[in-house]
Amino acid sequence: MKKFKSLSALLLAGIFAFSAVGCGGGESEEAATDTALTNTPGVLVWATNAEFEPYEYREGGEIVGIDAEIAQRIADELGCELEISDMNFDSIVSAIATGKADIGIAGMTVTEDRLMNVNFSDPYVNAGQAIIVAEDSEITGEADLADKTVGVQLGTTGDLYVTENISGVTVERYTKGFEAVQALIQGKIDAVVIDGEPAKAFVASNEGIKLCDDYLTVEEYAIAMNKNNDALLSEVNNILAEMQEDGSLQAIFDKYLNSESSDATADEEVSDEEGSDEEETSADEEAPVSEQADGEDAGSEDASLAAEE
Ligand code: GLN
Repeated sequence: MKKFKSLSALLLAGIFAFSAVGCGGGESEEAATDTALTNTPGVLVWATNAEFEPYEYREGGEIVGIDAEIAQRIADELGCELEISDMNFDSIVSAIATGKADIGIAGMTVTEDRLMNVNFSDPYVNAGQAIIVAEDSEITGEADLADKTVGVQLGTTGDLYVTENISGVTVERYTKGFEAVQALIQGKIDAVVIDGEPAKAFVASNEGIKLCDDYLTVEEYAIAMNKNNDALLSEVNNILAEMQEDGSLQAIFDKYLNSESSDATADEEVSDEEGSDEEETSADEEAPVSEQADGEDAGSEDASLAAEE
């Protein structure tokens, strides 16, 4: 009985919150601040690091990309104005935890550590760490990274993975992935470990570098929110589910991933964490996750996603 009572109280509170939430102006300031989904009523502050093509990057003075479109859709659905807060990647979690931003969308991998400080939405894509090397490098995969100097982006899962798993490695940490790639091109470091799609983008736009075939990790990107804001969490999960259903999530991936990859993604959506091996073997399929996968520890798995192209 007790349980039922508290459950119904919760439900009622939920219904009440639901009716008063959203960004589209509440009746009174007070009501809005009590129950609004966002820190500032009417505004959804999106924390990101716009250095991560194709997820978020600058083009003609604007921040565009897969995450930018997801953020805009969430703001639209909530009736909020989207305000972008572009910051270093390793500041995003604390910005969310301290209420400086409402959502963090930044190709951000779900990790146990981050889960201690923020809520994560259901994952919206599977990803992994790739290795970039000079075109004439003898490094062909993870085993060759031992005792080498490897560039990573500070505070990322690539940083974590290399630091914890490669023996004798010297890790050079950069604020921007681009700076790591520059160092590689200048011969200052032996390799860069960074997420697969940004790695492909760097290789496509810079001469003299290439990708190794294997990915180092299997990861899931999700949207970070404040731990005390379960209402926003469930709204965001609903919106993601809707985007999955109406095909708009896939359309966004198709728009930003090259046509070859997007064909692959359209055909083979990653359906669950344990799926067939094949589902996890092609770097082509940085595809929307169609079902919630339970948060596997990022970086703890050896996958061999062929990073071709
Ligand atoms: N996916 C990586 C992480 O979450 C890198 C993200 C990024 O650099 N934007 O740590």
